[in-house]
Amino acid sequence: MREFSDIISKWYSQNKRDLPWRRTRDPFKIWLSEIILQQTRVAQGLKYYLNFVSEFETVNDLAKSKEEKVLKLWQGLGYYSRARNLHFTANYISKELNGEFPKHFKGLLELKGVGLYTAAAIASFCYDEKVAVLDGNVFRVLSRVFGIDQPINSSLGEKIFRELSTELLPSSEVSNYNQGIMEFGALQCIPKSPNCEPCPLNSRCDALRTKRVKELPVKLKKTKVAEWHMSFLVLISGRGTVLRKRVGKGIWQNLYEFPSFVASSAEDSKNDLSLFISEASVDVNSLEFVSAIYRHLLSHRKIHAQFFVYRVEEIPSLLKSETVVFEDLLGLPIHRLIEKFISDSPSFFKLEGKS
Ligand code: SF4
Repeated sequence: MREFSDIISKWYSQNKRDLPWRRTRDPFKIWLSEIILQQTRVAQGLKYYLNFVSEFETVNDLAKSKEEKVLKLWQGLGYYSRARNLHFTANYISKELNGEFPKHFKGLLELKGVGLYTAAAIASFCYDEKVAVLDGNVFRVLSRVFGIDQPINSSLGEKIFRELSTELLPSSEVSNYNQGIMEFGALQCIPKSPNCEPCPLNSRCDALRTKRVKELPVKLKKTKVAEWHMSFLVLISGRGTVLRKRVGKGIWQNLYEFPSFVASSAEDSKNDLSLFISEASVDVNSLEFVSAIYRHLLSHRKIHAQFFVYRVEEIPSLLKSETVVFEDLLGLPIHRLIEKFISDSPSFFKLEGKS
């Protein structure tokens, strides 16, 4: 056990990437980086992290900002409840905890949006608390080195991996070791074709010895994702269009989008759009453009979306209050599908050359 953690820590000191959140022990910055990196890879996350920390130096700065601004900075990462939780938790820490992050794993775990992994990451990276991190990279390394074929997403599997990862923790410098095993999974013991020949663990790796590198880790298949068909109504009048804020619970809550019609089939969603058009007295002959079908995959949903652009004299009175001028379009938090359509069709919004 001791040897394993020594090898990982040594490998980390020689191979780690120089990343801004590795040069700090500020829990606010570590927390930000972890929440962002749960959504995306390092290369893309870096830009988001730098934007966030240049906008908000402390948790109090983030708390003072409007949720809309946080969503805008988050735009493109998806899973917007994470951004909303980020803002909520910043407010809680600022107001209820005097701007101070809890200094222990258990206290961190009580924060909204902070689960076992994030609490362990902050506690160990910032305070060297002896608590193991368990993410996809760690599961992979442990499953291969120790030859564990219990599914990583089964409750028994999670128990086995959690106990093993705790046993493997070194008695000091937990921060280095925890970051090391994650980095080892990200760079060395990668999902496909890991580079086993120069690997410092190759003489101890059960998967390599038993030729099961490709088989491990084992993961149970997820249940089928639901399909959504969406028709978006894009009204253009002069220099204005209609965008509405999504209300109610859901992944896109509080983000803006063109009026949308969701159904379980493309036909039903188009029918709903047609009904709405007649209700709002939009001239059917003003239809100018129908987009190709956009496909968008979320963790639990597969979306097929189509945009219907109508150029009208005036925005119908039913929708007037939701009119947005083109100049303000890019300043509002919008979800990925809307962003994609606007960037594919900038001429409708007179946004050529802008982003
Ligand atoms: S030998 Fe290969 S499979 Fe085993 S830990 Fe190293 S890189 Fe991963």
